[in-house]
Amino acid sequence: MAASHPSLNDLPLRDSLRGQSPYGAPQLEVPVALNTNENPYPPSDAIITELQQQLAADAARLNRYPERDSVELRTALADYFSRQTGVEVSVDNVWAANGSNEVLQQLLLAFGGPGRSALGFQPSYSMHPILSESTMTEFLNCPRDENFNIDMDRALEAIAEHRPNVVFVTTPNNPTGGLTSLEDISTIVEATDGVVIVDEAYAEFSDQPSAATLLKSYPNKLVISRTMSKAFDFAGARLGYFVAAPAFVEAVMLTRLPYHLSVLTQSAAIVALKHSEDTLATVATLAAERDRVSAMLKDIGYDVVDSSSNFIFFGRFADAHQVWQQFLDRGVLIRDVGVEGFLRVSVGLPEENDTFIAAAREIHTS
Ligand code: PMP
Repeated sequence: MAASHPSLNDLPLRDSLRGQSPYGAPQLEVPVALNTNENPYPPSDAIITELQQQLAADAARLNRYPERDSVELRTALADYFSRQTGVEVSVDNVWAANGSNEVLQQLLLAFGGPGRSALGFQPSYSMHPILSESTMTEFLNCPRDENFNIDMDRALEAIAEHRPNVVFVTTPNNPTGGLTSLEDISTIVEATDGVVIVDEAYAEFSDQPSAATLLKSYPNKLVISRTMSKAFDFAGARLGYFVAAPAFVEAVMLTRLPYHLSVLTQSAAIVALKHSEDTLATVATLAAERDRVSAMLKDIGYDVVDSSSNFIFFGRFADAHQVWQQFLDRGVLIRDVGVEGFLRVSVGLPEENDTFIAAAREIHTS
């Protein structure tokens, strides 16, 4: 049958989605993939074995819906978070979803929406504007300064002028790698009536205390968002969470889908959290590799932004996309995030980093 397929433009799509591009980090088969800030170390044998046993037990009860409020998992996350940050929190402070992307979406559904706005400091995580727009929340950009730090004067002006309902602060920032100080975060929180979401997806890689240390001072405004996709080497399992006052958990219970976290996801995350000490042993290795790769890039002659994360932002290129292609031609997939003159590389295994450095050296001298 010669069915004619309608194009996207033929559909009665919402006007605000017309002409938009979906999130699209290329997923290519390459020898060295350093483009999505994953942890290159696979889960330990102990995790794999325990997970297999747990999943066998779970398989027998997949006819039933999962525990809707993920209490056991949230308790395990609260224990981990308290240990990692030194800020004592309990199950009532923690909410979990399928990746921190879903956490952010649930928060925007609760605190953004039509007639409301979210302010961010770009370049930053590309999903913040996309999630804002898709939840009908107007996204306002307050550009970072030339060193990719938040321009605090401009930030305070933008907050006073637009009175956003949500403010995103990503620290360490993706894609640039730098930190926002707790002092600046406090200043931002004090300046706004909205909810400040501190996106700490990469926090375990930095030495700065978590913004959770400020939760006591600003319980009605501050949310800390985290993920198991990065330091925890668990990106495939899709588990993100936030830590905030219990009222924020009540808020997202209004916007989440029922049974959003599958039995399998909850079990997998609980097993991984039991082994957090082993898993997080890779964090120090990755941080050391990050410092080694940064130093080598500087030696070669690149501009390198100081990173407190598991990736490095470097330049400067007259045509960043062309350089991205030159890396790809050498079997190394890195990320062109669309910031003029710069590219981002994730820290991989030492041998992957060596391949990347060799390519970087060749490209610089060519
Ligand atoms: N926040 C930031 C800053 C990120 O870089 C990412 C992933 N790249 C996320 C949130 C979302 O991660 P996930 O949904 O895997 O938890």
